[in-house]
Amino acid sequence: MKHVFVAGSINMDVVATAERHPRIGETVAGEAVLYFPGGKGANQAVASAKLGVPTTLIGRLGMDAFGEELRAFLAAQGVDLTSVKTTAGTHSGTAIITIANADNTIVVVPGANGLVDARDVTVPNLVKGDVAVSQFEIPLPTITAFFRRARAAGATTILNPAPAKQADRALLDLVDILILNETELGALAGTELRDNDTPERFTEAARTLGHGKIVCVTLGKRGVLALVQGQPLLVPGREVKAVDTTGAGDCFVGALAAQLAIGKQLGDALTYANAAASICVQRMGAAPSMPTADEVDAVLS
Ligand code: ATP
Repeated sequence: MKHVFVAGSINMDVVATAERHPRIGETVAGEAVLYFPGGKGANQAVASAKLGVPTTLIGRLGMDAFGEELRAFLAAQGVDLTSVKTTAGTHSGTAIITIANADNTIVVVPGANGLVDARDVTVPNLVKGDVAVSQFEIPLPTITAFFRRARAAGATTILNPAPAKQADRALLDLVDILILNETELGALAGTELRDNDTPERFTEAARTLGHGKIVCVTLGKRGVLALVQGQPLLVPGREVKAVDTTGAGDCFVGALAAQLAIGKQLGDALTYANAAASICVQRMGAAPSMPTADEVDAVLS
């Protein structure tokens, strides 16, 4: 069995709930404080590891209490943390979220995530057939260095360009599989897309992202549209009662990477990842809602 390597962010999401948001300069009494391990890199690594595939996370934590808690949480999910460095002089990635009346405000401070550099991604044990995964919450030159290293080793590279921003050709040319939602596709293709646009419109935009690349556009409850050698393939979403879609995209990416690492064909891997993400949306939270292989198998049987 091959290995999944995820280079990416690790965050603690600190959520305060209140009856209403404070105005500028105002203090309001809140109701509860909740702590959720997060960050796209950490979520995707948990999704892959929980499916039983050896998974190494590459990233940085600060020298603080959140760093210790995140390390313990990720280890308990089976993620290999030997390539996660603890960095002095900075804090762990932290998102401060307030929720009132179902509206939220979010301030994300990258901290140690912003310091993940090219030396961190020189993983010597990455070999042919492995799968290398990254997202846009660590510096882009680091992702480029990681994918160069992966390509040289004969590994498959997967980029989830989230949160949406533009990227240069040098990075995109190193990507085998792009997994992105409509907003991220719009940012990379330089066009505005909405989630109710037609599959033809997404296909047209995905075709501009380069030949030879597989592009998977996740469409929420509509499923996923993959462009393989220029041909569209639609995997319909599964009909489920969604309670919290946070982390659905991360679950999809981690599950697809895990399936490819165990040698599954792309079509089967897409069906599996679609099923895994449909389980994730039926539970609260991101990392804690990632399914096990038995749970996905039960849905697919
Ligand atoms: P997020 O940022 O919330 O993680 P995203 O925009 O990156 O989400 P989505 O396209 O919303 O990703 O969802 C990813 C995948 O999760 C979809 O392709 C689908 O497989 C599954 N999914 C999402 N929402 C639903 C739903 N309501 N019902 C069934 N499956 C869903």
